Amino acid sequence: HAVAAGPEAVQGQYHWKLVTTWPKNFPGLGSGAENLARYVDEMSAGRLKIHVYGAGEIVPAFEVFDAVSQGVADAGHGAAYYWKGKIPASVFFTTIPFGMTAQESNAWLHYGGGLALWQEAYAPFNLIPLAGGSSGVQMAGWFNREINSIADLQGLKMRIPGLAGDVFAEAGGTAVRISGGEIYTSLQTGVIDAAEWVGPYNDLALGMHEVAKYYYYPGWHEPGSMLEFIINKDSFNALPPDLQAIVTYAARAANQDMLDEFTARNNAALQDMVSNHGVQLRRLPDDVLLALYRADQKVMQQLVASDPMAAKVNASYQKFYAGVRAYHHISEQAYI
Ligand code: CA
Repeated sequence: HAVAAGPEAVQGQYHWKLVTTWPKNFPGLGSGAENLARYVDEMSAGRLKIHVYGAGEIVPAFEVFDAVSQGVADAGHGAAYYWKGKIPASVFFTTIPFGMTAQESNAWLHYGGGLALWQEAYAPFNLIPLAGGSSGVQMAGWFNREINSIADLQGLKMRIPGLAGDVFAEAGGTAVRISGGEIYTSLQTGVIDAAEWVGPYNDLALGMHEVAKYYYYPGWHEPGSMLEFIINKDSFNALPPDLQAIVTYAARAANQDMLDEFTARNNAALQDMVSNHGVQLRRLPDDVLLALYRADQKVMQQLVASDPMAAKVNASYQKFYAGVRAYHHISEQAYI
């Protein structure tokens, strides 16, 4: 919000509160909002100051959407799929199980009409969404026992958000929805048997290797998780056009930076876990992945049938996905 006239008010200076769904100063995912604030400060020569608050400092993690929508804060950083109870279509803007990679999602959002659909979905909430960084392909998660068949998932309590949680439940597990800051204790105390968080770089930072032994891949459930910046429309409209442009381009830069950071740091973190912390790396068996895929197809059909906006976004997403994936088979995949 613009600073009211007062002794400390600087002419033409704006202060924003940005609330996040991450613990304060959290590396990786948490860097998105910190980078946005820094880029905007530098590019605007201090005319727009964005003050970043971690989960629980102003509002709890899962109240970020409402806080920004209602103007309690000017901006937020989190993941669209956290709001799927409110906006079923929101899952497509983060990631869907067996969906697009980070590179493909970025292309869909910025060159395939995805961002316009996202803005349409958030407009009733007085919010402007922007891509806010990506983890790349995530890991399937941490388990306190080996997963050798689909029977091993039956009744397993796992922290797994988004549409993937519904898929996991359809496959016989129990999906638990808790924020990042609560995962460690929940797994340690046995409230949950398994948890997915991100990938080696962020999972090491959270200490996941201390509370579970088996680390599974691939991240079928989050193949390219896109985070989000959300901006209160009134706060955005109150800025002069040059500051609006700075916020928009700074978000685009912060979005790319996060994927670069994860790509650079994941392997070193994984080697540290395996070599120094006794982590057991495992691949999910093919029949487990196939069972999850079949469950996913069912959940996707239900989602699309239940919500017109989800159907509209899905049509755009699947059309783009088919094209980009066909090309990636003969480019990225063939090359690697
Ligand atoms: Ca995740």
